[in-house]
Amino acid sequence: MTVDVDVVVIGGGAAGMVAALRAARGGQTVALFEKSTQHGCNTQVSSGSLAAAGTRWQRAAGVEDSPQQQADDIVRESGDESTRPLVEALCAVAPAYLDWLNDELGHTLELGGDMRRHGMSVPRLHTDPARSGGLALVRTLRAAVAADDRIAFVDGTPGIGLLSVDGRVDGAAVLQNGERVDVRSHAVVLACDGFAANADLVAQHIPEAVDDVFQGVSTSTGDALGWATELGAATRCMTSFLGSGMVVPGYATRVNPSLPFRGALLVGLDGRRFVDEHEHGYSSLATVLRTLHGRRAVLVWDDVLHGPALQSELMRESERAGAFRQFADAASLCAALGVEQDPFAATLASFVGWDEVTGTRRPLSAPYWAAPLTSGILATQGGLDIDTTGRVLRADGSWIDGLYAGGGTAVGISGPSSRGYSSGNGLLHALGLGWIIGNHLATHR
Ligand SMILES: Cc1cc2nc3c(=O)[nH]c(=O)nc-3n(C[C@H](O)[C@H](O)[C@H](O)COP(=O)(O)OP(=O)(O)OC[C@H]3O[C@@H](n4cnc5c(N)ncnc54)[C@H](O)[C@@H]3O)c2cc1C
Repeated sequence: MTVDVDVVVIGGGAAGMVAALRAARGGQTVALFEKSTQHGCNTQVSSGSLAAAGTRWQRAAGVEDSPQQQADDIVRESGDESTRPLVEALCAVAPAYLDWLNDELGHTLELGGDMRRHGMSVPRLHTDPARSGGLALVRTLRAAVAADDRIAFVDGTPGIGLLSVDGRVDGAAVLQNGERVDVRSHAVVLACDGFAANADLVAQHIPEAVDDVFQGVSTSTGDALGWATELGAATRCMTSFLGSGMVVPGYATRVNPSLPFRGALLVGLDGRRFVDEHEHGYSSLATVLRTLHGRRAVLVWDDVLHGPALQSELMRESERAGAFRQFADAASLCAALGVEQDPFAATLASFVGWDEVTGTRRPLSAPYWAAPLTSGILATQGGLDIDTTGRVLRADGSWIDGLYAGGGTAVGISGPSSRGYSSGNGLLHALGLGWIIGNHLATHR
């Protein structure tokens, strides 16, 4: 069977839905094929924190920032100057799609002034006021897609390949009810995320993460990489990924990544500090945890930090799961979490935490909260090479006509390793490229 539309989008996460909405707004008919909303997308399990600079929420809070400053921060963290044009393009559009989400789609946003992250020179993570995570964002986008009669959202229908003629992509093949359907279009947007759920590809490209706890969704199996590379597409930074050193082993949940920046203490099982708590983002911290005995560390905080830390769905989830506990004193903490008692007592006695939000320094006081930590892999950041419009590139720099990629399917902006990931890079890429590609398709055939 063959069907004709203007634009085919493969993947119904943030990148795919934003691309579809923007293209449809320009009058294009869009068929969006989603493998399985039941198994979900990484956008919905994410914290939903959106990094953007020069926004009206920052201005209202008196925070001076600009897309250029954000781009400089991101490139400084990744150390990869080659990504600068894409980073700058993404930072430039972020304030506009935050306005669109808030004003047109009804996804109320605010600045997370207390959401401090490594490498972010000023507060620039935006969130819904309830801090309910990425599910709220996905619900907003799905409702907008459902309300647009130019978009057909076809669930349970995976893309299985690309259609092409003379090197130009002119549609995609999908599998519907076990039957192949060829869908012809003038453009195909690959938005089916990366390959973190594909154990073979992870072993091939990211061997250091093979033993990590996987914290993403099962649908990110890298399906589109093979289809595009068969047509000559180049890939880049396949070794790059979003890791987390904030994963609680045995619970497959994480603790609030703000805690180290608010004055919490990180120790190894030997009871000693192994890192400056402010020195690493959560992805970079995971690279340090991988070098520790048993890949384990322990995060310790107290009641003063606990209330603010619960202002996040991630932390509330961890609380419901029982992933962290309160201990009356250091001895009971050490006994429960397998930490060497004497060195820990000495560490605690000399530790003075620094809270970046309040600008205060203080020791921790009993009772203590604590969680064991290990390293996790959340999502990959390498993928198909693209230009600043999301067009998929060959190794010689030419683009494949009719083929676009955004979000986890395309090369990210975090450089070649997990150390270079700045908080918010994932959704900046997914929403930003969805926006750029969709707006481009709305006006170009
Ligand atoms: C636990 C976690 C927390 C995170 N927190 C943050 C955060 O707070 N801020 C941030 O910026 N980033 C965060 N990230 C990263 C961010 O979630 C991702 O970078 C982003 O969601 C990727 O968006 P996407 O649209 O590319 O992919 P997704 O949102 O994963 O959507 C891809 C969709 O494609 C579908 N699909 C896959 N294969 C096919 C196929 N063959 N055919 C059809 N459909 C297919 C999938 O089912 C899925 O619905 C987090 C990631 C994780 C895992």
